[in-house]
Amino acid sequence: MKLTVQLKVSRKTNKAKLLFLEELYGKYQTALKLFYNYAKDNQLHRLGKRSLIEKELQKLYYAVKESLNLHSQLVQSARRDVVNDIMSWLKVGGEYPKLLEKPLTLVYDRSYRLFEHGKEFKLWAKICGVAYPLELGDTQLGLIKKAEKIGEAKLLKRDDEWYLHVSIEVKEAEPLNPKGVLGVDLGLRNSAVVTGSKPVFIKHRRLLYRVSYYWKKIDLLKSKLPKGQRTSKRIKRLWRKIARINRFIAHDTSAKIVKLALKTQKAIALEKLEVPNSGYNREWSRRLSNWVRGKIIKYVQYKAKLNGIPVILVNPAHTSRECHVCGGDGERFSSTFKCKVCGRTYNADFNASVNIARRATSLLARRRNPASVGLRDDGRKLPIFSGE
Ligand SMILES: [Zn+2]
Repeated sequence: MKLTVQLKVSRKTNKAKLLFLEELYGKYQTALKLFYNYAKDNQLHRLGKRSLIEKELQKLYYAVKESLNLHSQLVQSARRDVVNDIMSWLKVGGEYPKLLEKPLTLVYDRSYRLFEHGKEFKLWAKICGVAYPLELGDTQLGLIKKAEKIGEAKLLKRDDEWYLHVSIEVKEAEPLNPKGVLGVDLGLRNSAVVTGSKPVFIKHRRLLYRVSYYWKKIDLLKSKLPKGQRTSKRIKRLWRKIARINRFIAHDTSAKIVKLALKTQKAIALEKLEVPNSGYNREWSRRLSNWVRGKIIKYVQYKAKLNGIPVILVNPAHTSRECHVCGGDGERFSSTFKCKVCGRTYNADFNASVNIARRATSLLARRRNPASVGLRDDGRKLPIFSGE
C-alpha cells in the first residue's frame, strides 16, 4: 500500500544549510513563474493537448536551468506543475488559473535520498547535494526502513519549519482472523471509547480545553477586527495551533486504537462519519470536530491495514440512542445515557461503542457464515458499565 511519511528537517540544522533550502524553494517558485508566464503569454492552452503544451514549454528548459542553476529534475517538475494546472483548468473551466506557491517535488535518487548516519539523528536527507538531519518518530522510521519503494517527496514550509512528505510503498500484513470486535465511539467528551472485553477511554481533555480556549480567543479577536477584514496574523497563528493539536489527537487516538486491536487480535468497528455540517458550531468547541473524527477514521484505516487488522464501518444511525443491554430507546444528557425502557444509565460514549461493536459483530458473522449466529451473541457477554 502507498503511504506518505512526514519528516521534519531538524531545527539543529546549521543556518547556511537552511538558507540553501530557502534559496532552493525560491528558485523553484521562480521556475514556476517563468513557465507560467510563457504559457500564459503564448496562450499555450490553445494547443489543448498535454504533450503539445509540454513540448512547447520545453523550449524554455535550458534557459530556466541555466539562469537559475537549478537541478534539471526540479526544472522538469516545475514545468509539469504548470502543465497540470493548465490541464485541470481546461477540464473545469472558469477563469485562467492563478499561479500559486507550490512545494518542490523531489525524485528519489535524483534530487534527494534518505540515509542513516551517526547516532544523534535517526535519519538524514540529502537534498540537491546537501545533507539535512531529520526529526521523526519510531513508527515513521520503521515504515521507511521496511518500505519496498521510496518515491517522490514534496518539500514544503509550514510554520517556519521545513518538511519532507515522502511517498513510500510498504507491504501489507497478512490479514488477521479476528477474535471478536472492538467497538469505537469517537466521542463527545472522550476522543474515543474502545470497547472489547472492557472499555478503554482515550482522553485528551486538557488539549481539547486548550482548543476551546483558542476558539474563544479567535472569536474575541474577530470581533475587534476592522470592518471588511476577516482575519489577521494572530488569528491565523491560533488556527495553526488548533490544527497542530488536532493532528496530534488524531494520530495519538488512532495509534492507541490500533495498538489495542493488535494486542487483543480483534477487528475494529467504527461509525461512518456523518456528513459534516457547514461551518463550525460553537456547541462543538469542546468536542472533537468532524475534521478530527474524519482524520481518526482515516488513520485507523491505514494503520490497521498495515497490521492486517480488519476495519468495519457501521451505519451510525441510532448507535447513541439505543440501550446496549435491553435494546430500548434512550436519551442522552450531556455525557450520560438513560434508557427509557429499563432505566439503566451509562456513560453515553461507552453505550454507543458497545452498540457499534455489536453491529459490526453481526456484519462480520453474516459475512463469514450466513447461518452462524455464534458471533452475534458476543455482544451480550460484554460487561455492563455504569457511570464514568
Ligand atoms: Zn435498557
